[in-house]
Amino acid sequence: MCGIVGYIGDGEAYPILLKGLKNLEYRGYDSAGFAIVNKGIAIEKDIGRIEDVEKRIDNSLLKGCVGLGHCRWATHGSVTKSNAHPHADCSNKIVVVHNGIIENYSQLKEKLMQKNHFFSSETDTEVIAHLIEEHMKNSGFEEAVRNALKEVNGSYALGVICADEPSKMIAARNESPLIIGKGNDGVFIASDIPALLEYTNKFVYLHDKEIALLAKDSVDIFGLDGGKKDAKISTIHWGREDAEKGGYKHFMLKEIYEQPRAITETLNGRLKNGNVIFDEEINLSGEEILKIENIKMIGCGTSWHAALVGKFMLEELAKIPTEVEYASEFRYRNPLIKKNTLVIAISQSGETADTIAALKEAKKLGVKTIAICNVRGSSITRAADGVVYTMAGPEIGVASTKAFTTQLAVLYLLTILFSKIRKTLNDKQLKDMIDGIRKIPLQMASVLNEDMEIMNCAELYHKKTNSLYLGRGVISYMHAEGYPAAEMKHGPIALIDENMPVVFIAPHDIYTHSKILGNIEEVKARGGIVIAIATEGDSEIPKKADHTIFIPKTLYTLSSMLAVIPLQLLAYHIADKLGKDIDKPRNLAKSVVVE
Ligand code: GLU
Repeated sequence: MCGIVGYIGDGEAYPILLKGLKNLEYRGYDSAGFAIVNKGIAIEKDIGRIEDVEKRIDNSLLKGCVGLGHCRWATHGSVTKSNAHPHADCSNKIVVVHNGIIENYSQLKEKLMQKNHFFSSETDTEVIAHLIEEHMKNSGFEEAVRNALKEVNGSYALGVICADEPSKMIAARNESPLIIGKGNDGVFIASDIPALLEYTNKFVYLHDKEIALLAKDSVDIFGLDGGKKDAKISTIHWGREDAEKGGYKHFMLKEIYEQPRAITETLNGRLKNGNVIFDEEINLSGEEILKIENIKMIGCGTSWHAALVGKFMLEELAKIPTEVEYASEFRYRNPLIKKNTLVIAISQSGETADTIAALKEAKKLGVKTIAICNVRGSSITRAADGVVYTMAGPEIGVASTKAFTTQLAVLYLLTILFSKIRKTLNDKQLKDMIDGIRKIPLQMASVLNEDMEIMNCAELYHKKTNSLYLGRGVISYMHAEGYPAAEMKHGPIALIDENMPVVFIAPHDIYTHSKILGNIEEVKARGGIVIAIATEGDSEIPKKADHTIFIPKTLYTLSSMLAVIPLQLLAYHIADKLGKDIDKPRNLAKSVVVE
């Protein structure tokens, strides 16, 4: 994911592009850049957040009325200045910004290099600029872009400018978002509507495989075959915040619904021919993986909960003794760490002060460290020996949802890798694990369809002041204040009466299912209300529970990724019914960058 903005008109482009990117920063913030047509094309770019890039670049070069801006969330090529967008062809005359992935870029790149094209970045994006350059040897700007796009497979939202055509801009899209705004002083493009609401409320929606030819006062739309299409203008009547939430009432709900995509992106490129591939990311050789004697996981808040599920996976499947510890405890207690320990630190933002300090402490003790993190270039990624990124995209709601499930996905991938290298699972088991995780995004989408029943529970019970969450095994460590169900008899059972809803997380598994059925009986016998999360096809649970929400069948070790979704939705709908400030809960900040 990344942000694109473009302008062609009578005003100065740079201030418009800068403001637009600041509004789009939630889409990506590892680097940013600008290109402005002025005789040639001036390009200024750098790594870092937009406000840092703004300070570092020389904006005196960025004068002119036609330009493009981009904030990056890297997919191909590390976070470096040369990989930051915009990207240019060999002559520096054709410049592009891109959001998406060009799947056949390596074949195209090879072909172009044989024709003596010189590449200055490792990105997939740069091939587009060179392809257009190649086609411009025989055709005009528009036709060259069209022909170039016919050769490209994958997703793209594109802005293209050309020094020899200073009164034109071309935009195109396929499976990545891009909209066109028509204002009084010019025409704009952007990844989403909020970035432009300050300038216009008139938009033309570009569809997949369409190309737009833009001038300062005109928008023409074409298909990839060159046929002209209707450029219908729609007027919208909503404000910036509404738009960013993409029609959802809160960021939390939007982010809950983004999970199938976030998991897909986290798996993208990491499952190849039945193997888990992390390229250089984790920085651990096979030999080092074999030598690991135990794992220590550290984190705070939601990340700590993800670590608990990870412990279950790593011990059950990779057979590596694993301990989970709060980062704040670890850092201050002179921990004893054996030589062949691997420390895994988890942090969504990569800026959680305690987790960074704990990781540094571990490094001082001379052991290998890996960070699991959602933000490229963040402090923890610089401190750790290896990094695995979750591809959740920016998470704005303070209550963590998609960051949590993508952390689980990464822990699961690490478990597969370790199990394979340490030979704790056979080929069939490994294949089942890979098939299992591949299905998760679709299965998550089907759980999201159960929202009506969850809303119904929220309606019935939102006024209750207490509730219990019970489960067994991997499931008792959900992202909620939970209790292992077997512990119920040691305390919480005393709280149960007709005012106590009890949420049972009860997927079908050979170890614990019959025990959970017993626990449900015990709650019912004391008048409690039971909401159960069960596996599709389970005929026992619905007979006993007041409400049953089904999740699809999956491997036991993956069930938490599906079971957490009804819990997120239940928490969301109850908070919504109570009129709470869902995206900014009292006293909480998104990342805790202080001790
Ligand atoms: N694939 C491009 C890159 O890595 C665009 C990234 C994106 O869309 O986030 O630079």
